[in-house]
Amino acid sequence: MRIARFSIDGNVAFGVVEGDQSSPDGLVLDIIKGHPFAEFERSGRKVPLNKVRLLPPVLPNKVIGIGRNYAEHAAELGHEVPDVPVAFFKPSTSVIGPGDTIAYPSFSQEVHHEAELAVVIGRMCREVPRERVKDVILGYTCANDVTARDIQRSENQWARAKGFDTSCPLGPWVETDLDLAAAADLAIMCTVNGEQRQLGRTSDMVRSIEDLVVHITEAMTLLPGDVILTGTPAGVGPLNVGDEVAVTIEGIGTLTNKVIKRG
Ligand code: MG
Repeated sequence: MRIARFSIDGNVAFGVVEGDQSSPDGLVLDIIKGHPFAEFERSGRKVPLNKVRLLPPVLPNKVIGIGRNYAEHAAELGHEVPDVPVAFFKPSTSVIGPGDTIAYPSFSQEVHHEAELAVVIGRMCREVPRERVKDVILGYTCANDVTARDIQRSENQWARAKGFDTSCPLGPWVETDLDLAAAADLAIMCTVNGEQRQLGRTSDMVRSIEDLVVHITEAMTLLPGDVILTGTPAGVGPLNVGDEVAVTIEGIGTLTNKVIKRG
């Protein structure tokens, strides 16, 4: 099932995406009663998807990013794959939705795209044992871990480089039907203005989704709607004002955002 979050008549709602998946104009949202983090019912009240504004599919309390989780990407930036996963935060204020604009920050001259599979947490959890990881995941969505690369190089902590406003596009919806094995072998692609920049498979991750959930929840409680970014494949590169960047993940969908100058 695909669950989108959207605004309608000034209200925010969740809906199940139905209809012809081959064309955006064929998609309909069946508005759900309540929210997707508990048992819910479909209302049967349907709206065409192209008549609403999609929002970030969840509002995370925190986004935990994982650095250097694809060996080829670590190598392209001149790094080894670390012995322990590199974890960092992106603040809730960095999150934007499908179609929202990425505002190029004034303090950087080198902003990069990073296409990533995002894990959406479905329930409050901590110290999750490996065999329970599947139970704490609501589903998966596409993410762009937009990064001010020059700032990342010049500052020890990545809070500004990876945490600036609009640096965490998520969407277009949460796909809940992928099990761990399926999520661990998906094609992931990034295009800029229609030109392919990144192409990889989630099977190239150094640490698996299970590894990451175990590692993170050893340290902290995750809440419903929290998001883990699982790292990016090789091919990262610059974004410029006016670009349109799209992250596509097999079996999930495409997340598209334009880059504008920060106003
Ligand atoms: Mg990243």
